[in-house]
Amino acid sequence: MAKRFWGGALTAILAGALAACSGTSGDSEASDGVEITGEVNLYSSRHYDTDLALYDDFTRETGIRVNRIEAGADALIERIVSEGEFSPADLLVTVDAGRLWRAEEAGILSAAQSDVLTERLPEYLRHPDGLWFGLSTRARVIIYNKAAGEPQDLASYEDLTDAAYKGAICVRSSSNIYNISLLSSMIANNGAEAAKDWASGVVANFARPPQGNDSANIEAVASGECRISIVNSYYLARYAAEDAENPEVLEAIGVIFPNQETTGTHINISGAGVLQHAPNRENAIRFLEYLTEESAQQYFANGNNEYPAVLSVAASSAVEGLGEFKPDTLNAAEIGKGQAQAVRIYDQAGWN
Ligand code: FE
Repeated sequence: MAKRFWGGALTAILAGALAACSGTSGDSEASDGVEITGEVNLYSSRHYDTDLALYDDFTRETGIRVNRIEAGADALIERIVSEGEFSPADLLVTVDAGRLWRAEEAGILSAAQSDVLTERLPEYLRHPDGLWFGLSTRARVIIYNKAAGEPQDLASYEDLTDAAYKGAICVRSSSNIYNISLLSSMIANNGAEAAKDWASGVVANFARPPQGNDSANIEAVASGECRISIVNSYYLARYAAEDAENPEVLEAIGVIFPNQETTGTHINISGAGVLQHAPNRENAIRFLEYLTEESAQQYFANGNNEYPAVLSVAASSAVEGLGEFKPDTLNAAEIGKGQAQAVRIYDQAGWN
């Protein structure tokens, strides 16, 4: 299999794009003396330094070298489709159930069975057929400007449509997958009609047209430009990290984990799926299993201030500091299914 990967017609395409994380390509031994007995090829849209440390550790533990190509998820999916049965990719690693859904729809994922993964990962963070496995999670939370006063009775996403919050809400565009996945979860939980009412109700309370990323909206709330926003937890945790440049941002903000009395707070995943034409399928599954070990879970989650998918593993103190909450345990595969309908609903509601 190694020959297929490094040799053949694909070499030209792959040259320069593929980074070997341990040792030198073609060597039988890694630089630190580990005998290389196999490899696994990742196509990843994640790019954290902590992930690199993980790859090295995996190689030391198993002798399996980790090669990777990094690009945006949609570009990687397109590439895997066009490479077809000659694709060297073993695992697609990406963020958001919506993107894993796109990969599933593209027909590039293959069901994997592993007792280790079944045992360690909660059911709602695994695809029901094993097409992908969630490795870390993030929550989409409501934040408010503390100086403007704690919003009374704001305890759910649904409450954001209350007339009391007219002119209060800043949020990013609906073309962003985080918002699409949130609405998709509401379609699954409450039905399309309720989801439509929600989108229209939030639009009616906008402080300004949707703009910026989650960080920009956090800063708009901290500065008082907007009273309320909806953002991913890891952006908030960044301000709580020891080396944060402007920790005062978080001090100006209150965090609400929505829907604690009902469905739980919407979460999304970083995850990975074994590819249909994976040349190193066993190594790919072994790598996934490795990623669910305690220390690997901490590395993987902490790299982006996320929650470990394995529930017995603690999150970082910056992440834990945001508060405890009950997550929505809707299977992440369900979040994928409603994506197209969610986009239509946002369009109709005028949420740009
Ligand atoms: Fe993000």
